[in-house]
This record gives sequence, structure tokens and C-alpha cells, in this order.
Amino acid sequence: MASSLRTLPSVDRLLADPRLASLARAPVVAAVRVTLERARLAIRDGRDPGDLVEATLAEVAAAARPSLRRVLNASGVLIHTNLGRAPLARSALDRVVEVGGSYSNLEYDLDAGARGSRQDHLTALLRQIIGGEASLVVNNNAAAVMLALAALAEGREVLVSRGELIEIGDGFRIPDVLARSGARLVEVGTTNRTRAADYERAIGPDTALILRVHQANFRVVGFTEQPSLGELAAIARSAGLPLVDDLGSGALSAIGDESTAAASLAAGTDLVCFSGDKLLGGPQAGILVGRADLIERLRRHPLQRALRADKLTLAALEGTLALALDPARARAEIPVLRMLDEPVAAVRARAERLAVLVGGEVEETVARAGGGALPLAELPSFACAIEEELFDALRAGEPPVVGIVRDGRLLLDVRALAESEVDEVAEAVAAARAR
Ligand SMILES: *Cc1c(COP(=O)(O)O)cnc(C)c1O
Repeated sequence: MASSLRTLPSVDRLLADPRLASLARAPVVAAVRVTLERARLAIRDGRDPGDLVEATLAEVAAAARPSLRRVLNASGVLIHTNLGRAPLARSALDRVVEVGGSYSNLEYDLDAGARGSRQDHLTALLRQIIGGEASLVVNNNAAAVMLALAALAEGREVLVSRGELIEIGDGFRIPDVLARSGARLVEVGTTNRTRAADYERAIGPDTALILRVHQANFRVVGFTEQPSLGELAAIARSAGLPLVDDLGSGALSAIGDESTAAASLAAGTDLVCFSGDKLLGGPQAGILVGRADLIERLRRHPLQRALRADKLTLAALEGTLALALDPARARAEIPVLRMLDEPVAAVRARAERLAVLVGGEVEETVARAGGGALPLAELPSFACAIEEELFDALRAGEPPVVGIVRDGRLLLDVRALAESEVDEVAEAVAAARAR
């Protein structure tokens, strides 16, 4: 082994190879160091280190690859937070290219020839789709909740049902957000039962607002009770308090048992907020819609400047909302909605095509909406089952494929794969087997 280690070339000798000579120096030097280190480990393990120049070239190529990459989602989770949540619709992407690739009227009023507001571009679309007097778009829904509480309840009390003190994931906990916003949490009712009278009793001179939080990723079943949004709105109104509804996913048209932002406002909510990249199927954003005087207080709060959405987000959101104006078009062109809506026979046909291409077996599965939406909804789906050993190699490929390991096999669920991606998955499986 010692003698094999001594036969490894020096960094300089490897660099002098003509196949490496024409490349930019700094990345090649870094790649040579990595390659030599790997070769030393290989020799110590009794393996053949292979052609070091070829390995260096592969390392240079790997290091030049972007870190943020496209992934083929064979997990069966449609709104997968780890995989970037909602893929954007083609026309939303076109808006990003058009607006991001040149100057825009982001904060310029073309009619007046004077300074305008970035917050005005989506107002009309949101009013047409959802209703409400005014709107505001910030970085994400966590920011929307934070801003609403900071602007409307700083130093005062916010009533929340104990059944709604949720954690959404990645440490986003309603009690923590409340504390950070400077508001004080007043817990109402119990985990499984909260009555209208519990809210009425909790209201005091220091109460700033009532917050309703969508239970997102879980449901309390059995001996439960929560006042309806309409009942809560009546309590808030008679106490002169705003009712703020954190809808979480926020569907624009009815999907399963998810209530819509329009229904929330119709029930008497003063302010509703939801995510842009969950069931809406757009970019990461937090959208607030409701009473103009409340939105104005949010707009003027110093945090608004720090939490506002950028022009690429606004462009993608405008493109997505334009599709949402027509529910039939939205279901056809917004990827998340199309996948949710796809008949299971078509999903099965796609799994069968993949199974033929890779020599796998078709397996019935259950896909999920994900993103804290429709947690109980089981979307009938189909997967192509292949050998479990390919799990790592498929993730290491280009593009990477993310499937799920179950019962000793790797399931490639096809509900979140586009028709055109089936061939790419098949090629990835062939490449992974050849490695
Ligand atoms: C997802 C979710 C949030 C956070 O939204 P982001 O857009 O991820 O910041 C807040 N509240 C509820 C109820 C949610 O489901």
C-alpha cells in the first residue's frame, strides 16, 4: 500500500497533463487536490484509484454545476417543501423572464409619471379573484402573519384557540411568531374544544385582535368543537376587534375541504393571509387581503419594507393569478392544480409506460398534496417499483431523481412527474444501473 501511495503523482505533475492544461487554473487545482485525496483513500481501502486525469475532469465538471438544480420529483408529494414546493406555470415563468430581464415599472406610476408602489400591481387581480378592499404581498406567509401581528397587536393581546397553536415545520410555531411580533398570546379553550364563549370571556381591555389559524398539517378528530368563522366574526365585530385568518395554504377555488380566501372574507374575516406557493401554485409569497384601513397600517409598518416581495416574485404571482381568473384554465396550466386534478387512469398509464421503459413493476400508491394542505386527502396514485439500491445513485445523477424507499424497493411515484419527465427518469435509471 505504501508503495502504491508513493506512485501517486504530485499536484504539479497532474496539473501538467495536456488534458487539463487548457482549463481555468483555480478550479483545476482544487479538483486535483480532491482527486488525489480520494485516490489516497481508495488505495488505503485496497481499491483501484482509476485514471486520475479523468477523475479530475469529472470533479471540475461537478464543481461547476449549480448548487440549486432541477429535480425530478418521484416522491408522490405534490407540494414538497424540500423540493421547492410549487413548480411555476409556463406563463408565470414568461412573466419572470420579461420583467426580470429588463427595467420595469415596479415602483413607477406610468400614468402619473411619478413614483408608484410595488404593492399596487396585484390589487385589481386579487380583488377580482378573492374580493376584499385592499391587499399586500410579502416574502412568505410566515412574514404575513408576523407583519399583521406586529402592525395590529404590538404590545397587546392576541386571542388564539389552543387547538390552533401549531407548528408547521422547520420550527415555524405560532406562539413563537406571536412573541417575536411583540404581541402577547392569550390561549383560548382547550386542544380539542374551544367554544364561542371561551373567546368572549378572554376579551379584555388589552385585546388587539382575534387570530384564527388553519390547522395546516393535522386534524383533531373525535370529541371536538371550534366556533365557525362566522361566529368568530360576530364576536370580533361586537367587541370592535379585527379577526385575522391565517389560511395557510389558501386555495383560490374550492379544493377538497380547504376553504378559500374568498369564503373567509365572506364569513366576515377582516384580514386573511395565505401562501403563494402552496395550493395557489405560484411563487413563494405571503398574500394579505382584507380591510383597507388594516392593510394601510401594515403597509406603513417598518417591517413591511423588510418583508416585501421582490419583482421576480410579483411577476410570477401576477402570471399565476392571471391564470386563476379562469378556474378551468388554472386547472389545466398551473402544475400543482393539474396534478391534483389528473384522473388516476392517466397516472396509471404513465406508471405503466415508465415500468416498460425501466423493467419495473407497477404499484398502487397514495400521493399527498403536501405543504400543510389537505393532510387527510389520499390521492390515488401509481408508482413504478425498482430495486432499492438505486436510491443513492438516482439522487447523484443529472437531473437527480427523488423517489421513496418502501418495503425494500424504490417507488417512483408518477403523480408529480410530467409526461415528458418519464423519459428522463427512464434514462436516469439506466445511467444509475450502469454506474
Ligand atoms: C404554511 C403555513 C404558514 C407558513 O407559510 P410560508 O409561506 O411557508 O411562510 C403559516 N401558517 C399556516 C397555517 C401554514 O399552513
